[in-house]
Amino acid sequence: MRKKIVAGNWKMNINATETKALIDGIYQEIASYDLTNTRVIISPSYVNLSSALALTEKGIIEVAAQNMHQAKSGAFTGEVSADMLQAIGVKSVIIGHSERRAYFMESDAILAEKVNAVLANNMEAIFCFGELLEDRKSGNHFKVVAAQLSNALFHLQANDFKNIVLAYEPVWAIGTGETASPEQAQEMHEFIRKTIADRYTKDVADGISILYGGSVKPANANEIFSKEDVDGGLIGGASLKPADFAAIIKSI
Ligand code: PEP
Repeated sequence: MRKKIVAGNWKMNINATETKALIDGIYQEIASYDLTNTRVIISPSYVNLSSALALTEKGIIEVAAQNMHQAKSGAFTGEVSADMLQAIGVKSVIIGHSERRAYFMESDAILAEKVNAVLANNMEAIFCFGELLEDRKSGNHFKVVAAQLSNALFHLQANDFKNIVLAYEPVWAIGTGETASPEQAQEMHEFIRKTIADRYTKDVADGISILYGGSVKPANANEIFSKEDVDGGLIGGASLKPADFAAIIKSI
């Protein structure tokens, strides 16, 4: 059975003290939840990863990085490698967030290299992708999403997909308050699963968790998560508020 996942993307928000308070707050809020088939992931900034890992030693909450460089090491001032993340105990890395694609020019080819580096270090990639508003308006959204998957992931072996989580995030719905309707999310998730089944096998497609991201809030999480091919969410803004993040987790 596919795991349900609620992952928070904290982006470039909150300092060390606030990180501790947010983690404590989430633990308090979810203390009574049955999370047998649900993973809860948070992704603090690089500088707070070690403290977040220490603060989550008791389990339930997992810690992911928001990005990493594709090279093993070298003259890349300001960058962080997969080896470095793995060495401090990080097990998952968000790759290809639309903000990385838009502001840091991360192409599909670079993202393919990043995915390779994540997997080579025995970590899990939470791979983000999704169409722009103009793609949806012009009816090209399925084509764009298929190309993003194919360009960055379809060089992998079937077996690699046990360490991949997909996060479909229509760019027009990220941080905008605009959410894909549950029907739009289901339609795209079903398409994604079929695209993977066609390239690999139905078993690979059925085994992969596909998260939806884009203005998920306590008020809309239930309906989105009720859709058959939506296995959870990647949450931005609402993941910075313990009560909201917990309410979203409860909706799964
Ligand atoms: C995100 O950044 O991945 C995201 C989904 O943000 P928000 O929930 O704020 O739209």
